[in-house]
Amino acid sequence: MRLRPGLTVLWRRKGESQVGVDPRCAVVLEDLTAGEQHVLDHLRHEPTEADLIRVGRTSGVAPERVRELVALLHRSGVLAPDPRPRPPGSAVTPDEAYWSRLLADGDGARLMAHRSAAAVAVAGLDQVGMRIAVHLAEAGVGTLLLKDESPVLPSDVGPYHPRDVGGVRRERAEAVLRSSFPQLRTTARTGARPDVLVAVSTGVADPVQLLPLVREDVVHLPVVVGEVDVAIGPLVVPGQGPCTRCLDLHRTDADPAWPALATQLRASPPPLAATHLGQLGSAVAANQVLAVIDGRELVVDRASIEIGVSPLPVIRPWSVHPVCGCCEVAADMPDQRGTAAFSSAVGPTTEGAPTVGPSIDPAPTAGPSTDPAPTAGPSTDPAPTAGPSTDPAPTFGPNTSGEPTVGAGADRDAGQRTAARRVRTPA
Ligand SMILES: [Zn+2]
Repeated sequence: MRLRPGLTVLWRRKGESQVGVDPRCAVVLEDLTAGEQHVLDHLRHEPTEADLIRVGRTSGVAPERVRELVALLHRSGVLAPDPRPRPPGSAVTPDEAYWSRLLADGDGARLMAHRSAAAVAVAGLDQVGMRIAVHLAEAGVGTLLLKDESPVLPSDVGPYHPRDVGGVRRERAEAVLRSSFPQLRTTARTGARPDVLVAVSTGVADPVQLLPLVREDVVHLPVVVGEVDVAIGPLVVPGQGPCTRCLDLHRTDADPAWPALATQLRASPPPLAATHLGQLGSAVAANQVLAVIDGRELVVDRASIEIGVSPLPVIRPWSVHPVCGCCEVAADMPDQRGTAAFSSAVGPTTEGAPTVGPSIDPAPTAGPSTDPAPTAGPSTDPAPTAGPSTDPAPTFGPNTSGEPTVGAGADRDAGQRTAARRVRTPA
């Protein structure tokens, strides 16, 4: 038997042992004899039950009591499920270990298999877009479909190598990713659609690229690199919330000049994002995408996350604009599953390449986050004393720490981003 990856048996004091530390994973066992604590210590050697009974015998613990302790540990959720068969030579990744600790069933391998079967398109491969692609590959997403035929710029170096400058971004990105992640697929059969499309742009989101995605029911995440911040989202799930046109309409309500400004922004030189903004913004974007793929709760939903000068993100809620009609469009459309949008937004795909379809596996249970009370494994068993904190719910996303600025009423401050300080010109 094995403890969940990363958990350790610790002595609290005579008669008390603890497995793990974080209250979302940890369990404290009380009223133990010294021999029973010794038996628990032996868990770090991944023993069989027979091994533990042998250790118990030399420590004065009866076999029935050892079995009782093992059953208690099972109920407490600190023991790992039986391992799945895995390809020879493959090791447990940090992501798998992490989710094995947190998921209710402890089956991080299932979550990773789900990610491996997923396809994400990334359109726009500047420094930020390329970092998002790298994060997703590191997290185990099996297929990345990349689009950007423009050249690698000196400002893109970081996720790219200096020798990539001048090369085509998509080609260089595929080469860089394949060298680090040999299992990664970068093609899909014609007509396949991504589970999520990430559209990275500078200055303003591109409606020509994004609006067809609503009609064609493609879940997409706009990421806009602005003058001061990187804005992630809101994640657009067609028919279930605001789209990027809704955002433009709200901005136009707040500033009638917004359409003219946006048109000019699209043709303007890109504002270069500071490196730390690119790193933070890309990590937040990747986290949103992974939440969708994993079937986890989307903590920041119908809101954009703006990463700027402050280390705390701004969470800006958005609503469906009454004039947009996007929800009606999505509801009226037959389920096209985005084939046209896929080709328009990602470009032609390679025939005969690995098939990538919509994910059909049941989404893994996101454990404590989606079912906070009874499935939280370690902290729910009544027998052992839970750790010091009583907050069982793990928290994801930037709005859970500190005091991020949250846009007050939805869309009321939409004009903030366009309302420039006015300077009176001399008469
Ligand atoms: Zn809309």
